[in-house]
Amino acid sequence: MNTIKSIENIFSPPTPHMVGDGFRVHNFFPGNGLMSIDRMSPFFLMDYGAKFHFPPSDKPRGVGVHPHRGFETVTLAYKGKVAHHDSAGNSGIIGEGDVQWMTAASGVLHKEYHEKEWSKMGGDFQMVQLWVNLPAKYKMSFPKYQALERSQFGQFHLADNGGVAEVIAGKYKNVIGPAKTFTPIEMYTVRLNKGGKADFTIPENFNTSCVVIDGNIQVNSNLAKTNQLVLFNNDGTDFYLEAIEDAIVLILSGEPISEPIESYGPFLMNTKQEIQQAYNDLYSGKFGYLED
Ligand code: MN
Repeated sequence: MNTIKSIENIFSPPTPHMVGDGFRVHNFFPGNGLMSIDRMSPFFLMDYGAKFHFPPSDKPRGVGVHPHRGFETVTLAYKGKVAHHDSAGNSGIIGEGDVQWMTAASGVLHKEYHEKEWSKMGGDFQMVQLWVNLPAKYKMSFPKYQALERSQFGQFHLADNGGVAEVIAGKYKNVIGPAKTFTPIEMYTVRLNKGGKADFTIPENFNTSCVVIDGNIQVNSNLAKTNQLVLFNNDGTDFYLEAIEDAIVLILSGEPISEPIESYGPFLMNTKQEIQQAYNDLYSGKFGYLED
């Protein structure tokens, strides 16, 4: 029998901070004490860049070369354009609605900037970056990169001209998303027209939240405003949205990874020894090379 996934909390965005000079982000987790560090496992971190205007700049703003190991960085652009380069030789540019899914795994160096031509124009910038944890058995697998364009996403058209659900990962009402994931993940961008409705059925044990990217909505009949994060209890399977005005909502859900977490700086491992090893490998050049 299906039961309602009740709402555990609705969080307003914490005070923003800058990552490099290009990403003005609200860290919803794990750093703000809003929830325990494994509450949204397999998602370890969410930096949310609420809509913010960047003036034109000849030098693209962003964050320079830095390493990662043990997880994936997933970046969703909602306004503006993001460019990525990494030491595994992958690069890409994502625009509005696109997603870059970088598997750092055993280790990469990468850099993330506003795209050059977009920077020259400036404009509104809005994005989400997630760190998706990997189970121990995949932490040291080969790095890879998935460029996921909005045009490739599975689309489910909601009833009564309610809008569209773009399926990035997982499956929504038999529409499958293109992202290849290491553990079961559901990720959709839902674009609702005013009055549009969408309902979701996701296993009870999956950690589930949604972020209101634009507009105001009702979630299980509770008001959720632009830039708020709605966290669900693990007490049921179903929840539903209704748009008070035109709205965009990011749905995030995944099966928890039940393993010890040891995180330090850009590394996310299971033990302190593995963190130390990551630094040893970084300093001995095992993460490769990437030009600044
Ligand atoms: Mn990074």
